[in-house]
Amino acid sequence: MANLRLMITLITVLVYLLPSFAKSSESTKVITLPKSLNLTLLTDPSTISTASHDYGNVTAVTPGGVLCPSSSAEISRLLRYAANGDTIFQVAARGQGHSLNGQASVSGGVVINMTCLADITVSEDKEYADVAGGTLWVDVLRETAEQGVSPVSWTDYLHISVGGTLSNAGIGGQMFRNGPQISNVLELDVITGKGETLACSPQLNPELFYGVLGGLGQFGIISRARIVLNHAPKRAKWFKMLYSDFTAFTKDQESLISMNNDTGVDYVEGQQLMSNGIVDTSFFPPSDQSKVADLVKNHSIIYVLEVAKYYDDPTVPTTGQVIDKLTKTLSYLPGFISMHDVPYFDFLNRVQAEEDKLRSLALWEVPHPWLNLYVPKTQILDFHNGVVKDILLKQNSTSGVALFYPTNRNKWDNRMSAMIPDEDVFYVVGLLQSASSQNVQEVESVNEAIISFCKDSGIKIKQYLMHFTRKEDWVGHFGSKWGAFSKRKDLFDPKKLLSPGQDIF
Ligand code: FAD
Repeated sequence: MANLRLMITLITVLVYLLPSFAKSSESTKVITLPKSLNLTLLTDPSTISTASHDYGNVTAVTPGGVLCPSSSAEISRLLRYAANGDTIFQVAARGQGHSLNGQASVSGGVVINMTCLADITVSEDKEYADVAGGTLWVDVLRETAEQGVSPVSWTDYLHISVGGTLSNAGIGGQMFRNGPQISNVLELDVITGKGETLACSPQLNPELFYGVLGGLGQFGIISRARIVLNHAPKRAKWFKMLYSDFTAFTKDQESLISMNNDTGVDYVEGQQLMSNGIVDTSFFPPSDQSKVADLVKNHSIIYVLEVAKYYDDPTVPTTGQVIDKLTKTLSYLPGFISMHDVPYFDFLNRVQAEEDKLRSLALWEVPHPWLNLYVPKTQILDFHNGVVKDILLKQNSTSGVALFYPTNRNKWDNRMSAMIPDEDVFYVVGLLQSASSQNVQEVESVNEAIISFCKDSGIKIKQYLMHFTRKEDWVGHFGSKWGAFSKRKDLFDPKKLLSPGQDIF
């Protein structure tokens, strides 16, 4: 989801001011556990500081201690004590802390560093992998691909944890065909807010299973997930094509996500390039880069259709035939197409190089006031006119990436906690802006204006990775599922200990 040049644009100068604008919580109370629990909480300043911040870099919430568990039994012990002991404290599981608004934090409570429990076991028949909740997706890919298999649904960025994405949804360009990551889990081990460890699946404890998937960490801590595997292709042909016409762009995207495996591609995403942002042309050959930049300047907005087709053997002609046919039927601007032929691992891990570069420039840990929305297909044109043209394009400048791609609702299971629009096809719109101390509030105001516009115009968006501070917004978000969501909380975490940083209960 990162785009190097765009991110660098507005943020270079003010990085060192970061701590002064992260909204801070007051608590620094240290938690002392009884010796009989045999658990060690880390309370050194460096560990506490790390656990107080996240990728969003707009909040700072100080825990009373951090547990680096050596087994899931330790998590269970901690939660039993928190639920039954005299000292009440809340508990937040933390993957990589790549949340945006303190969702993996807890004021004065215990943060559990789930990455201490990373582990991957591929089944003998290679149909699934049992993965510890704190494992990073990049490690799951590395381990499974070595054995010739791979999960089927991916986020754009892989240095996030299995438990973290399953608590949200885990979305990306493969989900139009395979569903989000939460649709590709066979069973889970979950430690509830009462400290009980329960295995769950569609057949066993289904209430917990469906509750936890997209459940924002509210019902239990995922200590193990059984992830569906399939054949790991060797390479990917990765294309970007440019459009100046929004309707042609969305028509082609929607056509691509309706195709089956044999005739279609394996990955579909899209982006917008706007003349008030820095335009990253680096995917195109050097000889075309100025033409691409001019195109954006002349049209104000250019749409990038991004697709990938996986393959194993370059001598088998099928892949080439599919691509040939597709590229001939798509209505991109003639000549504005570029293809990279890359190993499967590199394609999936494509954001890593950008992270490395940003880190080397100290531009990774800046504020990220991101806004992620799902927009129903029938309202995407109104959204484009009202938000993209009338709000985003009218800003003096924008930074970061604007993702824009459709997906299919039939790959989601409505019994899960995750919320999506009520239409067969909906769009993922990721306005992934990077900010500085000077403009973070400005970007947040733009995000608020977008939400207000959608509300006033009746555009039925759902937010992803959202952070509401008012109960009525959560009730509105979950709609008819709110009753079930609160009942599950009473059932599995009655003392409301888990993931308080989500600010739901
Ligand atoms: P954390 O931020 O640590 O935790 C997220 C929430 O889950 C918290 O409430 C936490 O308490 C809870 N939690 C964490 N672990 C567990 C567990 N084991 N059991 C129960 N609850 C748990 N998301 C996508 O879907 N698609 C993308 O393409 C995508 N790209 C991204 C790119 C970048 C550069 C970044 C920074 C994030 C991206 N994300 C994407 C968002 C990502 O899914 C979230 O940040 C998510 O929260 C996972 O991050 P994490 O593992 O660090 O979880």
